[in-house]
Amino acid sequence: MAKKYELPPLPYNYNALEPVIIEEIMKIHHQKHHQAYVNGANTALERLEKNRRGENPENIRGILRDLSFNLSGHRLHTVFWHNMAPPSKGGGKPGGKIADQIEKDFGSFEFFKKQFSDAAKNVEAVGWAILTYDPEIDALIIYQVEKQNFMHPPNLPLLLTLDVWEHAYYLQYKNDRASYVDNWWNVVNWDDIEKRFQKTKT
Ligand code: MN
Repeated sequence: MAKKYELPPLPYNYNALEPVIIEEIMKIHHQKHHQAYVNGANTALERLEKNRRGENPENIRGILRDLSFNLSGHRLHTVFWHNMAPPSKGGGKPGGKIADQIEKDFGSFEFFKKQFSDAAKNVEAVGWAILTYDPEIDALIIYQVEKQNFMHPPNLPLLLTLDVWEHAYYLQYKNDRASYVDNWWNVVNWDDIEKRFQKTKT
């Protein structure tokens, strides 16, 4: 039997991202939503195992979609928590190799920030804005994810992730996703993104 997925602890307290993201959001987001994705991924794996043994035969497409949704949710949130840091440590401009790569691929940090923000603000309904690096073309790439269903574990590294599901901001920002996205830059943990980027280069 494989090990089970587990909810990882946050790398800071629930109130650490205030005033950008309030404690109540962080608590519910981590303890309820992320926990539900962890449980959902484990349940889907159990259903797959039963399916292999011929017990309770189910539509495999449904189980795999469920596994993808929940496992992607688990992975994305785990990176998302670490992509952020208290406003006293986070925000500002990146340094290091990621800064050089952003400059090369986007022209300037401001152009990058604008395009990533636009991507986040314009996700249809709910989903994510993501920054990845593709070694094949030696370039950073921004993309959107609707909901969080990759249908396969993403095969490009997750460098920077921004959750724009309503549960990520609604209690504080209501329907003003744009303000949430604009404020969110004040808690971006560039040291974490630099670490992830350097790992993709080695
Ligand atoms: Mn979320």
